[in-house]
Amino acid sequence: MSPMLESYAAGRWFRAADEGEPLLDAATGEEVARISSHGLDVAAMVAHARQAGGPALRALTFHERAALLKALAKHLLTRKDELYALSVRTGATSRDTMVDVDGGIGTLFSYASKGARELPNDTIVLDGSLERLGKGGTFVGQHIYASRPGVAVQINAFNFPVWGMLEKLAPAFLAGLPTIVKPASQTAYLTELAVRQIIESQILPEGTLQLLAGGASGLLDALTIQDSVAFTGSAHTAGILRRHPNVLDGGVVLGVEADSLNCSILGPDVQPGDPEFDLFIKGVATEMTVKAGQKCTAIRRVLVPEPMADPVIEALSARLAKVTVGDPRNPDVRMGALASLGQRDEVTKAVEALRSSAEIVFGDQNATLLDGDPERGAFMTPLVLHARPGATEPHDVEPFGPVSTVLTYDGLDSAIALAARGKGSLAASVVTHDPDVARTIVLGLAPWHGRVLVLDRDDAQESTGHGSPLPVLVHGGPGRAGGGEELGGIRGVLHHMQRTAVQASPDQLTAVTGRWTTGSKHLPSDVHPFRKSLADLRIGDTITSATRTVTLDDIEHFADFTGDTFYAHTDAEAAARNPLFGGIVAHGYLVVSLAAGLFVDPAPGPVLANFGVDGLRFVTPVKAGDTIQVTLTVKQITPRTNADYGEVRWDAVVTNQEAQPVATYDVLTLVAKTWPASDS
Ligand code: NDP
Repeated sequence: MSPMLESYAAGRWFRAADEGEPLLDAATGEEVARISSHGLDVAAMVAHARQAGGPALRALTFHERAALLKALAKHLLTRKDELYALSVRTGATSRDTMVDVDGGIGTLFSYASKGARELPNDTIVLDGSLERLGKGGTFVGQHIYASRPGVAVQINAFNFPVWGMLEKLAPAFLAGLPTIVKPASQTAYLTELAVRQIIESQILPEGTLQLLAGGASGLLDALTIQDSVAFTGSAHTAGILRRHPNVLDGGVVLGVEADSLNCSILGPDVQPGDPEFDLFIKGVATEMTVKAGQKCTAIRRVLVPEPMADPVIEALSARLAKVTVGDPRNPDVRMGALASLGQRDEVTKAVEALRSSAEIVFGDQNATLLDGDPERGAFMTPLVLHARPGATEPHDVEPFGPVSTVLTYDGLDSAIALAARGKGSLAASVVTHDPDVARTIVLGLAPWHGRVLVLDRDDAQESTGHGSPLPVLVHGGPGRAGGGEELGGIRGVLHHMQRTAVQASPDQLTAVTGRWTTGSKHLPSDVHPFRKSLADLRIGDTITSATRTVTLDDIEHFADFTGDTFYAHTDAEAAARNPLFGGIVAHGYLVVSLAAGLFVDPAPGPVLANFGVDGLRFVTPVKAGDTIQVTLTVKQITPRTNADYGEVRWDAVVTNQEAQPVATYDVLTLVAKTWPASDS
């Protein structure tokens, strides 16, 4: 008997004592492993995540968590070959495995990088800007995101055993939530191997990742109000989960990514021979054959203008005819097997349903395989159907395999209406070189889709294609697609956190957020803050500069020197007619440049570089004769991991002789952690 898969639960590997269920190789039908969760204490897993994993994770800052994700990604890269070798048993070709394994590792890298660059080196995230709630400025509001003391449960589909886990793990981990992953049984052996590699690496704190191999009985019963479930799979199972009392009434947050009848639309401007025509055909054929069409984002509905139906079917058929199908161990095979014979039966049933309103125009279910046993392996050759006018099934039935249906439209409104009949999808594409078509279709599709690709000759070279969810872009869709949203860069992290509006005095808000708040105490210091290293700087350290009177000479000199001779700075008569200025005003950039001259401490020191400004606003015009002064305050200190320096954000306010703010902005600098630098 083949080995029993193990769960990683509460800090140890657990093996069920019963015989379990066999898991079969998708291409050969041989037994790969057995699976059972019989006797597994899922409540103890949830408790372990809460008591060990969560606290360990939340003791780390976002940057520290990001660094662990990066280390994990690097580690998995070194063990990728083992994953590839096992992945073939799921029916995947090496191209399919690249999407799953490299795609998953790439998602870890992407989140590691985003976490380090876009999140603070802290444990909370500020959302939006400060809201002034009282006239005197003593009562202010700020939204923050804080971690939840819960567990992120992921229940995954069979089609992406590695990516499915990692794309959900990365954002949850950054958000401070420990994960329990429950992979689909059919391909759980590959997830188990990946989890083994992760646990063996000891990179992640104990309790931050656990694996439930087998049935999930009792799992949702153990969840409470701070926990969440991210589900990918069938609408049927999603319905069962939605009706669980802990979801209905117990406050467990459920995110769903379920069925999706994605479409690709050929623009009415495209004719055979145009580059877009070929791109369209290639896109549809690729989506039908990668992972043997078992992709939640695959193109199920091919929408073309009526006169284009025949040329599209002809070109698509010609392309698909070249796709070799068979055992993915054979390097000449382009498309492997479906995940199981059961899955193939499901697709066959779906095709039967589709045939009530569509005809098969390409494909032969008895076609010869390049390699492999058609009885034991879950093979299926690509099938194209052509829908009859008024067909309803193509908008309702999801054949989760290498099957697409061509439908015709008459005008852009009709294309949009057909797309919407999918009742909400994950991804759509429109292939057009006409900007008006692109705008009309994108705006028409947007309410019904989580992602829309506009493909043409200009972006084709770099395009990642219709079906690839990207870590930096939202993955999910409304309605039938489940209504969930994953990935999307830092958005995916914030989904796991609680947004809270904090109302307080500026000083209290500074204490809560770790970021200096306008209206908070300034900490004047004898030493210029530019002489202080990161170790010595304190939030609130302030310098109030000397003053400088801006002259007409200054303004003329700046205009000559920079070439910015805009009339408001150079032509007194024209400037007098300007309703906002009523006369010559200083360039905003002159004000900011003079401000820098006022606040810098010029000698070599711990301030290494100025890397930009944020939120620059010129709020009051500066005229010749006005006297300006700057107040510069340390707003936020962010040490960089693995560097001898960190970022310091300074609040800069330039005022005039009447103490009115004339310019406000944040100055961004890099400052050495210690000074003199330790090696000097
Ligand atoms: P399922 O919905 O059957 O299974 C998905 C996951 O849910 C698996 O991990 C499964 O575990 C688990 N599960 C099943 N029942 C329960 C339950 N009562 N409580 C908790 N977890 C449960 O989908 P499949 O993966 O089998 O795929 C079936 C169909 O779903 C496909 O043919 C396709 O139509 C659709 N699908 C859609 C996807 C999309 O994103 N659009 C992606 C993948 C599939 P176990 O395997 O152990 O039963």
